Amino acid sequence: MICTAVLLCGIGYGVQKKREYVPNVIVGAGLSGAVMAERIANEQGQKVLIIEKRNHIGGNVYDYKDENGITVQKYGIHAFHTNNDAVWQYLSRFTEWHDYKHQALAETSKGLVNFPVNLNTIEQLFEAEFAQEFTKRLIDKFGFGQKISVSDLQNDEDGVLQKGANILFEELFKNYTIKQWGMKAEDVDPSVIARVPIYLNRENAYFTDKYQGIPAQGYTEMVKNMLDNPLIEVRLNTDWREVRDNLKYDKLFFSGSADAFFDYKFGKLPYRSLAFEIKVFPKEYYQPMAQVNHGNAPRMTRSIEHKKQQKKKAPVTTVSFEYPEPYNEKNERYYPINKPENAVLYNRYMQEAEKLPNVYFFGRLGDYKYYNMDQAVARALELYRKVFKAN
Ligand code: UDP
Repeated sequence: MICTAVLLCGIGYGVQKKREYVPNVIVGAGLSGAVMAERIANEQGQKVLIIEKRNHIGGNVYDYKDENGITVQKYGIHAFHTNNDAVWQYLSRFTEWHDYKHQALAETSKGLVNFPVNLNTIEQLFEAEFAQEFTKRLIDKFGFGQKISVSDLQNDEDGVLQKGANILFEELFKNYTIKQWGMKAEDVDPSVIARVPIYLNRENAYFTDKYQGIPAQGYTEMVKNMLDNPLIEVRLNTDWREVRDNLKYDKLFFSGSADAFFDYKFGKLPYRSLAFEIKVFPKEYYQPMAQVNHGNAPRMTRSIEHKKQQKKKAPVTTVSFEYPEPYNEKNERYYPINKPENAVLYNRYMQEAEKLPNVYFFGRLGDYKYYNMDQAVARALELYRKVFKAN
């Protein structure tokens, strides 16, 4: 029998359940989902239901206080940075900021050096004479204060620049990239390595953005404040695919992975995942900086000493050791993999999505884009304005 209305079917056979109606459903309580929910509830005054598979809000920015009162970022280090005034002002409505400018060190054959590479790193890593010549040529060619990618420099026609870049690549980028992505470094999209350029300055800063910080009470608290509206309901421990047939909505905002939404009908979108080993050490500090990169260690890529991001005092210290691994459905999706064949597969899913006029994909997973936090927020704000024709 073809049912034309749920209620009619229900009367006839007593099997069809009436679907729960909510005008807006959002899948995923991460940063993207939280922005969308906040805007719809606070600005449109409409109800929002958020469906979240995990047992907490915040997605991969989730953090928690451990037994020693140290805030641990469960899914790896998140240092907020942006040049986008609107994004900074928007998030600042929900949090105060702990003044934190991210810095890192990297382990090399010459010991710990500043990372991303800058002119100090070059002095730390090379013999004085070569360092001087390398620096001089870099500045003559590109200008003090500029940034360049190590891969571009490896292809430079100047032999000294090429030699310096090749050594930097071997010491700092090659093995880290192989471990991080599980493929040859040359197969990784150049934009990925260009995220950490060579800075022709001496600032020892991971980012050069105008605004930088960590939410004073943590990311989870910030997201909680965003969702603090009686019009927003969050259902944790709930898999979208298990509840979708019970829901009716006008608009669905999906920040999960598009392949799952379409029951993987064209195949799986690949992701890279991470495993963390979290240890507490009975000493005040474990390492000299919040982040130390270990490019040439066998499996580990980074160690993160959480309290160094918070300037927290405690007699013990909590450290996360980070190990990249393939995504396998038992772990979490962290990184979309930027390869042409994955873009083709993603676009096939998006062609299906176009047939569903009230379904919107967004977020790092939904857009299958390696967004930074500020980009995810900007994207969610932009989508909100487009869909609701808001300012
Ligand atoms: N990278 C590297 N060596 C490092 C740090 C980063 O080769 O010590 C490369 C690696 O390919 C990585 C990319 O630069 O995937 C981007 O690094 P970023 O720190 O932005 O990664 P995220 O914090 O997003 O994991």
